[in-house]
Amino acid sequence: MATTPKLDPPAGTATPDQALATARNAVATTTAESSRPLRDVVNYDLLLDCVHCGLCLEACPTYVLTRAEMDSPRGRIYLMKALAEGTLELDADAVRHLDLCLECRGCETACPSGVHYGKLIEQARVYVERNYRRGPIERVRNWAINSIFPYPARLRLLLAPLRIADRLGLRPLLRKLAPGALRDWLDLLPARDRGVEAQRRNYGVAGDSTAKAGAASNRAVAEAPCVVVHHGCVAQVLTDSENWNSEGALAAAGYRVARLERTVCCGALDLHNGNVERAREFARANVSEFKRRDADSIISAASGCAAVFAAYGDLLKDDPEFADDAREVSARVADLSSLMIARDYRFSREFRARVTYHDSCHLAHGLGVREGPRELLRSIPGVELIELAEADLCCGSAGSYNLTEPAMAGELVRRKADNIVATGADYVILGNPGCELQIAAELRRRGARIRVMHLADFLALADSSADATASPRL
Ligand code: SF4
Ligand code: SF4
Repeated sequence: MATTPKLDPPAGTATPDQALATARNAVATTTAESSRPLRDVVNYDLLLDCVHCGLCLEACPTYVLTRAEMDSPRGRIYLMKALAEGTLELDADAVRHLDLCLECRGCETACPSGVHYGKLIEQARVYVERNYRRGPIERVRNWAINSIFPYPARLRLLLAPLRIADRLGLRPLLRKLAPGALRDWLDLLPARDRGVEAQRRNYGVAGDSTAKAGAASNRAVAEAPCVVVHHGCVAQVLTDSENWNSEGALAAAGYRVARLERTVCCGALDLHNGNVERAREFARANVSEFKRRDADSIISAASGCAAVFAAYGDLLKDDPEFADDAREVSARVADLSSLMIARDYRFSREFRARVTYHDSCHLAHGLGVREGPRELLRSIPGVELIELAEADLCCGSAGSYNLTEPAMAGELVRRKADNIVATGADYVILGNPGCELQIAAELRRRGARIRVMHLADFLALADSSADATASPRL
């Protein structure tokens, strides 16, 4: 079990206890005078669901590390309420505590009162971005993230020099010369992985199997349920094997796999960063694409994207043109493991490996998928599943959080890696590319011989004979 490091309070902020006292007093005073919000910070009624019991605190990664109430879900709810009631100003302290939230939604799972914390923090971030002027460095950084990451062509262009450096074997030199923050960013970027590409060849179909099924006049396949895999934006550049191995697994399980004509960002980055209008634009584009394909199920290898698709119905509920279709999209969101289990997929080969499983936040807390991936892993002959301590505690990746909050993200991934190493597993399996990059970078840093793999890539490996006896690699 990992130790609990203490992070210093964010620079320039009041101590957590002072901030909490201010927020609590502000809420108490205002509630006594008036129960009406003065500012449109969040949906005020949602705040009232919180009974301040504190049962969510130990599920909150930032609280677990800082032990500061204002970095807990309850403290942030106090803060939002005080902002809404006009008794607390949106200053650097308040923004800092809101920024530090990972939006992992671990608190939603823990909350017995059904508080929709995810919606609250998304709304609060919209309010922050509209009403708070950040410093120049933050503004440039956020502009770069928001302008590049949702657009695969731009990201590929940005990474082109790094790919050339990798081909020339210059990554270690580059890393040595890079300043601290840039070095951390570099570490997150995987080198081109030939091993995973080999799995693709061995695994078979990856692509639009609808046409193939028609050409083969295979009625059983043609009448099978249709699934579309959304390839994501960052994921299609950095971890595309997860997409085509998801398609391959689904095709092997007897699904018709359809491809979208156009793939645009799901909008998760914008929702997390308070840019709800662009998130809605992306949502409309995706809803139109999904509607054109009319697949029975929609999946994404990135659980963060899948959770956003599942929220499209809510995101576009006031859009008369898209509301019905958006609800339909949300209803069709599924995950790889449940689809494989639904077809009673059987692995034909033995694959001897000790594996552990990390619950990616939006798969576990957003979509409620916990047991399916474990069941699927256990069904592979030869696989021994070892439970991971704090399996559903965030690894610190959280969209672009590891780029914007490297100190907290670093503490979280070190804690995660400690727990992973303690299992003695050969593989850690997960359901989100961001977690893969984050955890793999930390395990590489400490020289641990544990492979980090997305479930789809692991299924491809376990089902292929070529690499079945491969030893864990760095
Ligand atoms: S969010 Fe839920 S668990 Fe946390 S303090 Fe409020 S009611 Fe309690
Ligand atoms: S979303 Fe995660 S980090 Fe944010 S308050 Fe909830 S548990 Fe804590």
